[in-house]
Amino acid sequence: MIVLAGARVVTPHGVLDPGRVRVENGLITEVGPEVGPTAGPVGGEAGGAGAGGADIVDLAGSWLVPGFVDLHVHGGGGHDVTASPADLAAAVAFHRAHGTTRTLVSLVAAPVERLAEQLSWVAALTAAGPGPDGHVVGAHLEGPFLAPARRGAQPGEHLRAPDRGVFAELVAAGAGTLRVITLAPELPGAGAVTEAALAAGVIAAAGHTDATYDEAASGFAAGMTLATHLFNGMRPLHHREPGPAGAALDAGVACELINDGVHVHPALLRLVAAEPARLVLVTDAVDAAGVGDGDYLLGGHPVRVRDGQARLAATGALAGSTLTMDLAVRRAVAAGLALEVAVAAAATNPARVLGLAHRCGSIAPGLDADLVVLDADLRVTRVMAAGRWVPAPATRPIAAG
Ligand SMILES: [Zn+2]
Repeated sequence: MIVLAGARVVTPHGVLDPGRVRVENGLITEVGPEVGPTAGPVGGEAGGAGAGGADIVDLAGSWLVPGFVDLHVHGGGGHDVTASPADLAAAVAFHRAHGTTRTLVSLVAAPVERLAEQLSWVAALTAAGPGPDGHVVGAHLEGPFLAPARRGAQPGEHLRAPDRGVFAELVAAGAGTLRVITLAPELPGAGAVTEAALAAGVIAAAGHTDATYDEAASGFAAGMTLATHLFNGMRPLHHREPGPAGAALDAGVACELINDGVHVHPALLRLVAAEPARLVLVTDAVDAAGVGDGDYLLGGHPVRVRDGQARLAATGALAGSTLTMDLAVRRAVAAGLALEVAVAAAATNPARVLGLAHRCGSIAPGLDADLVVLDADLRVTRVMAAGRWVPAPATRPIAAG
């Protein structure tokens, strides 16, 4: 048993200041206010042994927040999730050290047989559950059914019209672990794939789309429930043609936002957060996250990272971000969001989107002990995943592309 004592604890019902969280057998078993002096010896990394043999960890001066749930990850720490199963696991481990205890792995457009292979890697890691490399909760197909006009950094040669047969093949390859598919609702066949996705229990997300407001609104009415990185990779919001972003906000669906200070202006973050439950912070991180500026290969294309911005060398298009979720949360708070709102957007809301709210995304009794300790400046000091403290992974330098 571990007792985490003295931190300001962010719970679904407000902040306990200070609070106390008990962890047993990988689960949170008790959450409440700290009453009276901390029982047993406290202090230091190892804490002390309290009554009943509990390890008491003194977290005075820290915040305790739920482990983050990232719906959109392509890589990190020098590892691209599509390079190999080992790189996939290493990228997930990199993000876990930054507080992301559940990861949905995003796959960019590629030949169908290649996507099927990558989906099988994700399926294997998902089936393994929480382990030394992290906790993968499934796959997000970001393609191949995307609008060429809004492809961003997606490889145009692998985009194709939505096709039910291809989708069925990919669902089978994922062996039940394909959770989200991003598609452009205006493309012919998008309705049929959305219908097939709903039938297969896969979330249909609108993204990389040139849809008008009406076309996107039809997609949401047909059952699309998520907008992939709102504002990015879509027709811009105009007051007379609000496009997919206007349709998503109007429909009240969950909206991913890349809060790196580059992809979206902080004012729009605040506007989306005016309805806090719909905001889902994602990193859309690429392999360059955590390795600094340099020249890299992403999906076979040269990508240049300068001042933390990843752009295609050929076109200058933004090619994902170098965010980690802890930084996305810090930026959200710097932009004026309450920490509770930012934490909900990084953990609670994405867990709800995935149907995992009964397992993770909040600090509440009965949920998995996925916890992040933040210092007063909201920097990660420790991460607990399924009741175990997580080691920091090593990052390796990656060769110039
Ligand atoms: Zn992406």
